[in-house]
Amino acid sequence: MPDLFINGKWVDAINDATRTVLDPANDQPLATVAEADSDDVNAAVKAAREAFDSGPWRQTPASERGDCLRAVASELQNRKSELTRIESLDTGKTLLEAETDVDDITNVFRYYADMADKDSGRVTDTGVPNTVSRIVYEPIGVCSLIAPWNYPLLQMSWKLAPALAAGNTCVIKPSEVTPLATIELVKIIEASGVPAGVVNLVLGGGATTGAPMTEHPDVDMVSFTGGLHTGKRIMAAAAADVKNIALELGGKNPNVVFADADFETAVDYALNASFFHSGQVCSAGARLIIEESIKDDFISAVADRARKVKLGRGQDEGVEVGPMVSREHREKVENYIQTAIDEGATLVCGGKRPDDPALTDGYFLEPTIFDDCNRDMTIVREEVFGPVLSVETFTTEDEAIALANDTEYGLAGGVWTSDASKAQRVSSAMRHGTIWINDFHPYVPQAEWGGFGKSGVGRELGHHGLDEYRETKHIWQNISPEPMRWFEGKDD
Ligand code: NAD
Repeated sequence: MPDLFINGKWVDAINDATRTVLDPANDQPLATVAEADSDDVNAAVKAAREAFDSGPWRQTPASERGDCLRAVASELQNRKSELTRIESLDTGKTLLEAETDVDDITNVFRYYADMADKDSGRVTDTGVPNTVSRIVYEPIGVCSLIAPWNYPLLQMSWKLAPALAAGNTCVIKPSEVTPLATIELVKIIEASGVPAGVVNLVLGGGATTGAPMTEHPDVDMVSFTGGLHTGKRIMAAAAADVKNIALELGGKNPNVVFADADFETAVDYALNASFFHSGQVCSAGARLIIEESIKDDFISAVADRARKVKLGRGQDEGVEVGPMVSREHREKVENYIQTAIDEGATLVCGGKRPDDPALTDGYFLEPTIFDDCNRDMTIVREEVFGPVLSVETFTTEDEAIALANDTEYGLAGGVWTSDASKAQRVSSAMRHGTIWINDFHPYVPQAEWGGFGKSGVGRELGHHGLDEYRETKHIWQNISPEPMRWFEGKDD
């Protein structure tokens, strides 16, 4: 079956090109999908433009748009086991992780279904007699939505659900590395009653398919989640037409552990913060910043557990961490590991591919810990996006805060302490979009997500996540108009 979805029809790429999608657990072909280029993007944007300008979607009552999103949420649950399996195969993540993703995006669709008709603007008191002043929200127009490979369904849904709730039309592109579950999501949207042309799916690489989505003059907004380098390019491309942008970029997230934290719990979460999904998480707690007095015991406890993490195929029983997403990405992470060694960090555990012969074909990498790190090291400054934890130490609260903020990013961070006042002081001082106190990683659709600094522009989720996809308009009416005679009396 063709797998581009343009103007309500499933079609092949105009140039008939295809791409093979690989299973990261064994390097074998999983599927062959269409590979779009700028011709397909042009067709998709044309469909989205026409659907926005003359189609019914933006005039559809917001409550009915909400009903479509609710139908999507129900079908996500009906097809949960199938979607879970596809997402797990495509990304390498475990079935439990993929199932959690499907539950999470169900909640995101439900949240924006409920939000769709809850806030249609406000009336202001102008203070000027005989006037009515209304603030209303309108959709922005045609939105290009571009997602990465680590959370394909989830990152796309954080964009698509609010964009549709607000009445926009969209051209969407998952990562070329992990397109499979998004194809199924679009089938679900098609069945939900969303009209033709409102959601258009293109598949393909960043330069050939993504770039035209950001450069096309008929696109009004670009919402992107991915790496910093790509984000800069997209920002520059959007500037040419002054398009709206929303950028969710990388992170180099501190996990600050004070000596008065509950030791066992902090160890457990430090492990999860850094090695969950092979560390391929934008908010991974990849920088452990730990109070000097407990460092040795803490690192030894985390390393003991890291050595026992069960690597394997994401679909197999008992597996805790799957492979990395691609051969190229594992090589990139291995280069970071070598650089850390060259720059003088102390390798505590991992740092290599597993010895298990059953894992040699997949893109596996052992959980890796580096002690004795400092901010001059590449591994501390740059986003590695793999199962690699760096360790820095502090002795005072101020020092801990300074280290936590010593990054060009500012996506998320954790603080561990049993002192409630200290928790508040430190979390207030940390310059990051999300702070977890005695926790790491949870998010909810009700709360905004996004970064300070180079972690991005704008916010997803929550109220702000809907505002990203709306224009605000002020409508002023003079209800008793009569000549104002401003210029009278100025004649000679
Ligand atoms: P990436 O930047 O390589 O690619 C992301 C998407 O952009 C892909 O669909 C890709 O095809 C497309 N793309 C690439 N070049 C493009 C171009 N010139 N124009 C338009 N589109 C282009 O990122 P990735 O490797 O897929 O994902 C990993 C990155 O994503 C990490 O840096 C991670 O931190 C980030 N991320 C951030 C968040 C967040 O919420 N802030 C969430 C998940 C991932």
